[in-house]
Amino acid sequence: MLALEEREENLRICRRCLTRDMAGKEEYFRSLHEYIENLDMDVKTPAALYEERLEVCRECELLYQAMCRSCGCYVELRAAIAKNSCPWNKW
Ligand code: SF4
Repeated sequence: MLALEEREENLRICRRCLTRDMAGKEEYFRSLHEYIENLDMDVKTPAALYEERLEVCRECELLYQAMCRSCGCYVELRAAIAKNSCPWNKW
């Protein structure tokens, strides 16, 4: 039987996490990460700008378990496409 603290830790929902921060979910999100990694350079957001976008999402109250509650996207995927923008014009 798990101790109370351990059970609370397992139930904790990460509101400010990206998929890459979710320990134990690496395999689940592997195809998403590979897709982003292999995007054509002509559509892909430059690396520095990508990280800037994700930092904005991390601070956003609409981020919920790596998804934007406004558009329903995984923010790592939305931010990875250069022409995309935040639905609230935060980036
Ligand atoms: S895409 Fe925009 S609205 Fe959605 S989580 Fe990121 S900053 Fe927030």
